[in-house]
Amino acid sequence: MDEAGLRLSPSSVTDFKSCPQLFKFRKIDHLAEPVSGPAARGSLIHAVLERLFSEQAASRTPDRAQELLDALWRQVREDPEFRPSGMGMQEEAAWLKEARTLLRNYFKLEDPRGLEASELEWWIEYDLSDVQLRGIIDRLEKRPDGTWVLTDYKTGRVPGESRELAAFFGLRFYALVCWRAFGIIPKEIRLVYLADPVVLTLNPNERMLLAFERQMRALAKAVQRAVNTNDWRTRPSPYCMSCSFQSLCPAWASVASEQSETGEVTGD
Ligand code: SF4
Repeated sequence: MDEAGLRLSPSSVTDFKSCPQLFKFRKIDHLAEPVSGPAARGSLIHAVLERLFSEQAASRTPDRAQELLDALWRQVREDPEFRPSGMGMQEEAAWLKEARTLLRNYFKLEDPRGLEASELEWWIEYDLSDVQLRGIIDRLEKRPDGTWVLTDYKTGRVPGESRELAAFFGLRFYALVCWRAFGIIPKEIRLVYLADPVVLTLNPNERMLLAFERQMRALAKAVQRAVNTNDWRTRPSPYCMSCSFQSLCPAWASVASEQSETGEVTGD
């Protein structure tokens, strides 16, 4: 966090809710993390779909999408910011194959030739008293009747029914920002899951967003309290096994010292 004050995006709020110490490692200490295969694939697919919508409508075909994927990957494949850490040639072929499948699946869900995107990778922000809510919406469509539709692409698996509302956390966050910053409650928010493939939709309303806003204010207070007191709780969970910071985490310090006392070696 810098002098400009508290700034929260959906991902930073999710980090804080799942583990305040994780939030600290990422957003306060700004520690670097290795690029995972799924994260890199997600970034590449998002970039391809953004480029695809910048083409003439008639050109937005499955073949063109695959061409864009090849072209974009050629541009960034040697860049450590985009290439999954430790990925060799053989793994790269399998990784790309999965990316191609996700793109093919996209066309089972939508025909982009019939869609007009008003904004792509759209940066929005809103100052909610002492916290700024901010982030990037994958796609906004302003329909002829004046309504707004927000779309978010997902390259992971669709959540179970009990986790569906939680999956809309990011889009409800953006719906709130749209409402407060532009005075428009999006008529529909859509999660486009490319792996399954399936589209989940939700229609936000004022009551839902007011409750969400209260939740954001409470969360902002909790983050501010943690900053002021430098008290960052650890919240161990199964997620720890894929957390990049396990070796630095106080919750795992005793495990690490036990292992060094017994001479046990971990990792591969
Ligand atoms: S290892 Fe677990 S408890 Fe520690 S920071 Fe990561 S998620 Fe939090």
